Amino acid sequence: MSYAMREPCKHCGGTEGRLDTRNGQDCVFCIGCNRLSYNAPRAETGREVRRLRTRPDVKPGVRARILERDNGTCVLCHRSDVPLDVGHLISVDAGRKAGLTDAELYDGENLAAMCASCNSGLSSRPVSLRFAVALLRSRIAHREVAA
Ligand SMILES: [Zn+2]
Ligand SMILES: [Zn+2]
Repeated sequence: MSYAMREPCKHCGGTEGRLDTRNGQDCVFCIGCNRLSYNAPRAETGREVRRLRTRPDVKPGVRARILERDNGTCVLCHRSDVPLDVGHLISVDAGRKAGLTDAELYDGENLAAMCASCNSGLSSRPVSLRFAVALLRSRIAHREVAA
């Protein structure tokens, strides 16, 4: 299969290549001289990016418990009339950078009921003060043992 190279071959100046996969990397070989021209990113080749699932899912039992604890209400916007999911308070990425283990990150204390829009807004950003306030109020309101 012929592949239009993004730049002429640096060996022979040819512009027609072929795509070959070596060790999971898309390599563009020059048809003229048969030498490797460059490694193509998946964004260029349009091939599907391999996604590795490195994050454990929240178990269904835990999920149900969190939703119940948070009163079936998004802890951020307090809506209960939208589908809720369980999200991370400290995002997995931020938490790992801060040295938290997956066990800590997936602990119920780091999970909360969130609607899709609040959850997606939080997924990569650090926890905001607005969020910490909402969380504290939610935890105080729903704790079983009064202080
Ligand atoms: Zn060439
Ligand atoms: Zn929300």
